[in-house]
Formats: sequence, structure tokens, C-alpha cells
Amino acid sequence: MMLLKKIAYHTLDLLFPYICAGCGVPVSYASQGICANCMESIAEPDDPCPVCSGPMNGSSCPICSSRMTYMDRTIALGEYAGALKKIISSVKFGNNTRVAGCLAELAAVKAMQFASGVDYITAVPMNKKKKWRRGFNQSELLARKIAARAGIRYRDLLREKPGSGSQKILSVRERYINIIGRYEPVCGGLHGKSVIIVDDVFTTGSTINECSRVLREAGCSRVFALVLARVPSGIR
Ligand SMILES: [Zn+2]
Ligand SMILES: [Zn+2]
Repeated sequence: MMLLKKIAYHTLDLLFPYICAGCGVPVSYASQGICANCMESIAEPDDPCPVCSGPMNGSSCPICSSRMTYMDRTIALGEYAGALKKIISSVKFGNNTRVAGCLAELAAVKAMQFASGVDYITAVPMNKKKKWRRGFNQSELLARKIAARAGIRYRDLLREKPGSGSQKILSVRERYINIIGRYEPVCGGLHGKSVIIVDDVFTTGSTINECSRVLREAGCSRVFALVLARVPSGIR
């Protein structure tokens, strides 16, 4: 059986050569689309802040000490740079489902390591107009894949209120203010529940922090933010 599988993979490699989504070297069908070097490079920096996953300044976090954060912990696969940045782009813009599955697998392992015993996995929601334009909510697809692998139930818990403007041209401080009140729960029964909320990239943290706040307000006892990558500079 193993031999047959090997032959099948070898044939697939000849027919449909794969290249690594992180660096472009040829990779085998069996590799899930990421080479060993790039796979090894996906790692968090040493001793990140457990709450926001940013760099620590000695024993205190310069980010969490200067603003309210509502997640118990932020779990990130690595920094949004180098190979991981390219890999995420290949999923986001190239719809590379093979690589998406591989990232979900890595994220599920981390979810089980740091956030065991949670009730639901959910995603940062996207308003209907944006979802219609893009065709899908990247974070939701990812969250569903992670949920399936971690054996945790996926559930839509939040929605973005209609008419919410873009955050892109705002400064970090403005982003944190502008986003307040943008999301609302879509269901009840969250009292005492533990939840993982998934987003693809943690840029300033304003979105996932506000989603965490709303989940807490709805009664959740623990909220974990799970992201594929964190922009190294993080919240300022
Ligand atoms: Zn590579
Ligand atoms: Zn922090």
C-alpha cells in the first residue's frame, strides 16, 4: 500500500509539479505545498507576550500595558514576514487549498496546545457586501478547517453591522476607536463558554480585540485569538 502511494505521488509530481508557496523550489505532492526549510521557518519569536503575542520589553508588554485587551491569549503561527507572508498570500489571493489545509493543521495543533477544552471556534465576520464581492470570508474558511482538525465545533457567533466603513486609511489609534460597536452577537447562550476566534493576519489587533470584547460582553468566560501570522511591529 505504501509503495503504491509512493508511486502515485511520484506520478503526480511528474504530471503536476508543485512549487513551494514560500520560496518557489519544487516540492513533492506529499509535502502539502510547503518545503521543509519554509516549514521550519514558521515559528513565533522567543517568549512573546501571551496576551497579544507581541515582543516583550523585559517582563512587561509595551502594548498590553497601554490599552485594554480582551483576549486571554493570542496564538500565532509566526510573524507576518518572509516565507509565511508569501504562503498566506498564496492562500488568500491564489486560493491554494492544499497550503490552506497545511496551515490549518499547524493552527489546530497550537489551538489544542494552548486553548484546550473550548466550546466553539468562530471567525472574525465579514459584512455581506464585502463577502459577496470577494465570494468568501477567508477567516471563516480557515476557522472551519481548523475546527474540523481540532475536533471543535465551528459556529458563527458574530456579525458585522451593515454600513461599517473601511479601517484601512486610519491610524492605529483611530482604528481602535473607529471599530467600537462594529460587531454584534448573532446568538445567545454564550454565558460561561470558551471560544477561539480566528483571523488570518493580526495587523494592529484592533479587529480581533473588539470581537473579543463583544464575545466577553455576550458572556464568554474565555476568548482565545488564533491567527496565522502577526505583523512584527504589532499594535503601537
Ligand atoms: Zn520553501
Ligand atoms: Zn501584550
